[in-house]
Parts: sequence; C-alpha cells; structure tokens
Amino acid sequence: MRIVMIGSGYVGLVSGACFADFGHHVTCVDKDADKIARLQAGGIPIYEPGLDDLVARNVAAGNLTFTTELSEAVGAADVVFIAVGTPSRRGDGHADLSYVYGAAREIAGALGGFTVIVTKSTVPVGTGDEVERIIRECNPVAEFAVASNPEFLREGAAIEDFKRPDRVVIGIEDERARAPMERVYRPLSLNKAPIVFTRRRTSELIKYAANAFLAMKITYINEMADLCEQVGADVQEVARGIGLDNRIGAKFLNAGPGYGGSCFPKDTLALMKTAQDHDAPLRLIEATIAVNDQRKRAMGRKVLAAMDGNVRGQTVAVLGLTFKPNTDDMRDAPSIAIIQALQDAGAKVRAYDPEGMEAAAAVLKDVEYATSAYAAIEGAAAAVIVTEWDAFRALDLPRIKAAMSAPVLVDLRNIYPPAQAEEAGLRYVGIGRPDKE
Ligand code: NAD
Repeated sequence: MRIVMIGSGYVGLVSGACFADFGHHVTCVDKDADKIARLQAGGIPIYEPGLDDLVARNVAAGNLTFTTELSEAVGAADVVFIAVGTPSRRGDGHADLSYVYGAAREIAGALGGFTVIVTKSTVPVGTGDEVERIIRECNPVAEFAVASNPEFLREGAAIEDFKRPDRVVIGIEDERARAPMERVYRPLSLNKAPIVFTRRRTSELIKYAANAFLAMKITYINEMADLCEQVGADVQEVARGIGLDNRIGAKFLNAGPGYGGSCFPKDTLALMKTAQDHDAPLRLIEATIAVNDQRKRAMGRKVLAAMDGNVRGQTVAVLGLTFKPNTDDMRDAPSIAIIQALQDAGAKVRAYDPEGMEAAAAVLKDVEYATSAYAAIEGAAAAVIVTEWDAFRALDLPRIKAAMSAPVLVDLRNIYPPAQAEEAGLRYVGIGRPDKE
C-alpha cells in the first residue's frame, strides 16, 4: 500500500516507520521544514526508544521517505493518515482542530484516484463528518472516503504498542474504506491483534472514553493515597489488593503526582466540553480534571512541608522533568506545577532529567540544569523524585545523604522502600504510605 502520514510527530513518525516496517511504502509529511531536514539527514527529532534503528532500516530499504511537499505524495497514495496535533484550544479547552482541517484542505486539492483519508489524530465526535464536508467542498469531484482510526500507543513504548496493540479501532461510514484499511493492518491481524470495525463517530468516542477512563483510574488511586496518608494505610498494598481482582486490573494503579503528558489533560478536557455541549455532562470526568489539576501544585506543597518551612533561598533538587520516563515530552508534565510552587515559596531549583532537559528549558524559567542526579543534589536542602526514570531507581542513598545540606527525600513515585531511605539517614516522604515501616 502507498501510505502518506500528514504530521511526523510522536504519532505520525512512529506509525509511519512501523507501517514501512510492515512492507508498505510510506511518505511522512510535515510542515516543519527543520524536522523534515533532520529526518532526511538521518536524525530523529524526538526521543523514543528504538525509533532511530527502525527509521534507518526502512529508509535504507526504500520504504520510508520524508518531505514537506504534501501534494505529490497524496496524489499517489491509497491511504492518507492525518496525524497532526489537536491541542487544547486557548481559552475554552475544546480541541483545536485547525491543524486537522488545514490538512484536510491541503489533501483535498492533491487527491488522485480513490483515496481513504483517515484521522489518526485524537479528534472529537463529528470531526470525521467535518473533514468529509471540507474535502467535498474543496474538491467536489474527488473520489474518497473518510475513516477514523485513533491511535493508542504510549510514548516510551510506542513501537511495541504499535506493533502489538491490544486492539485496532477503525470507524467507517463508506464500505469502500474497509478493504484498504484491512490491507493496511493485515500484518497486525496476522499477529492476532483484534481489529474492531465500527461506525466513525463511535470510533472517535472510543479513544476519548479510553483515555478518560485511564485518567480517572489514576486519579482514583491518587485520592486513595491521600486517604492512606491520613489513616496510616499503605496505598501500594491497597492497589495490589484491589488490582488482583480481574474486574479492576492491576495496571494504572500507581499513585503519584498526578497525570500529565500530551494526551490525558487535553483529552479529558475536550471530552468534558463535548459532553457539556450535548447536554450529557460527564461528572466523573469533570471531577477527575479538577482533582488532578489541584494535585500537581499540592505536590509542591508536600515538598515544602517536608522541608519544615525552611525553603527560601534553599536549593531543591528535582529528579525527572518529563511527564513519564523514556520520553523527552514535557507537555503538561507535573514537574512544571511542582517547580512553580517551589519557586513561588522562594526555593532555587536545580534539575536533572536524562532526556528532557532541552524540552524543559523551553517551558521552565530560572531552573539550573545538572549533568547527573548526584550533581543535582549537591548541597540541596531537599531532593524530589518526580519522574521514575531507571537512572533514579538505584541511587546510592548514603552518598545522597552525605551530599545534601538537609537530608530530605520526597519520592513522588514510591521508588524506594521507606526503611531503606531511613537507614541511609534520609528523612523520607513517599506517596500514600506510612513514612516508617
Ligand atoms: P506532535 O505535535 O508531536 O506532531 C504533530 C506534527 O504535525 C508536528 O510535527 C506538526 O508540525 C505537524 N503538522 C501540523 N499541521 C500540519 C500540516 N498541515 N501538514 C503537515 N504537518 C503538519 O503531535 P503527536 O504527539 O504526534 O500527536 C498527534 C495526534 O495524535 C494528536 O491528536 C494526539 O492527541 C494523538 N495521539 C498522541 C499520542 C502521543 O502519545 N503523543 C498517542 C495517541 C494519540
């Protein structure tokens, strides 16, 4: 199949490279000329484990090319995926669909024979109808069908997720889209991945319903962690105790500083807005959003409390900035609100992140960057683990204690057993569990 990916970001680039690896001919398009120039020169603009090898292999095999010129590639394509960003619209929190509609207009003018146009971006219910209308308006004689195929990959494990998904969801209104979509995903059906065909609006909603459910599950265990702290219970044991029930499941029950990232915050907000617009408010999701928003800054206050108010002019070491490990993505990372709360109280922040410091420098102000975790904690009055990178999982705790001006370790990911930290002479504060065992 000849496939075009419009948008070569986290989703477009990974999906494009994986489709090429399945043997399809893929052209990845992006408006960002620097990004394309970097890709053409053999570079990878984002950090995603394994992506450099996958891209290099498929470029060498002649299956994967990059361009800023959409029209030639679209003219020859069987299937065109729209994988552009759908951030929150400034002001009201609805999904900003201007990139999707912009791409639809450009595609319309370039269509050759019958083409399936697929929204892979996360888009609100009804967006496929509008994409279809725009293309028809711009090019009344075009032969095309518009499908929905939301993406469920996770940054940091994106290639594995794409190649071995729990399911593929495809929403169609026009039967002519079915066979091309089956061919695009045939290698996955051979892998026994369930392919769920449904109507387009249902498919669009499945993506939001999934993300909102996961955001709610995280928020549920986070609130349970707060209760554990008050009553002297251990949230990790509560999570294990409930997660062994198959109806609940053990995943997404790690209490932490609140969800962030490029998807959950904006998708929960967009779903809430859609539901309100349709007079079917989703109160559980509204509560999830409010609880999570407050939680991130509350984590900053948790650090301040651990420092017994001795904060102004002191250095706090922040270990981990990205919203989760194995990505350089800083979008809506909890570290942003936590650092702001620390700075508002007069603390100096010194941070270290294995991959995210370049992206962090674009969103954080007045942060000093260190070259390692140990360099970050030198002379600090508190250290905070915000992201559970592997590099922070086996720190030499006695060395940390010796290097700090006050031995306070706030572990927002519950990486360390409290007893081990206390043994090293650290004052340890975790999430939702007794400080001492
Ligand atoms: P991204 O910002 O990394 O990439 C989007 C790219 O699209 C950018 O490089 C931008 O320059 C390009 N672009 C915008 N308009 C264009 C146009 N008209 N022509 C060509 N290129 C254009 O975004 P992302 O993280 O890859 O997310 C894309 C979509 O996928 C979003 O809707 C997101 O919600 C969804 N999604 C993301 C993830 C994730 O983990 N990042 C997972 C599942 C779904």
